Amino acid sequence: MTVSENHGNASICLGCWDQMHVPIPIRGPLALPFRAFGITRSKMNPNICTICERAFRYVKQKNHVTANATILFADIRGFTFLSERMDPVRLGQVVSTFHDRCAEAIWAHDGIVNKQMGDGLMAIFNFPIRIDAHASAAIMAAQDIQRQCSAALQNLRSDLGDLPDHVLGVGVGIHTGDVEIGEFSSFRSDFTAIGGAVNLAARLESQAAIGEILISPATAARAPDLMTDSETRSLQLKGIEQPVDAAVLTDR
Ligand SMILES: [Zn+2]
Repeated sequence: MTVSENHGNASICLGCWDQMHVPIPIRGPLALPFRAFGITRSKMNPNICTICERAFRYVKQKNHVTANATILFADIRGFTFLSERMDPVRLGQVVSTFHDRCAEAIWAHDGIVNKQMGDGLMAIFNFPIRIDAHASAAIMAAQDIQRQCSAALQNLRSDLGDLPDHVLGVGVGIHTGDVEIGEFSSFRSDFTAIGGAVNLAARLESQAAIGEILISPATAARAPDLMTDSETRSLQLKGIEQPVDAAVLTDR
């Protein structure tokens, strides 16, 4: 898949269409009556709606489903260091720049920004919008994230003066596997993904240095044409017994 093949500004919710074959208008005049009932475009991805985001039980007729998906985690490296030295307003601007750039990259490849946690985020590819090549979509989104953020953060770096090497850049981790998707909280009504595959993606991200994308063997195997410039790194990850031979892409 390339950016030109993605859905752009869809007129109906792609999540509701792919999951239920129900056309829910999200743009144009047909969307107006839906908006009156509080059904709007989702903040997770502007091509899905708040029905598929918030009414998971209704949409799937189940509390959760098993789905094969690619999970991407990204965060700002050295954020703790920064947060101790920067004023909170400026710090907030750094975080929102990062989140905006990440969201654009993820949406361009039909993924959703499922969770934002401080300076980090988690994206899901292949739910609720179906993507045949979801491993490739996630890797290309990660490459866009690194490209977009390094330019923005480089400007900031020169403003801030001398910073150690481990500060101000982005690390990304990606893994593909079966996850449980559903509503797992009694006080929140939006869905998320859980399971070992999610943990592995998060662990990979925690090992990524500035500018690096760490890709699990399962994801790399599904996207061989994107792996030609990668190197392999054997990693011992917390909570995972066997070492993981991650493919490392660096944006240079
Ligand atoms: Zn929807």
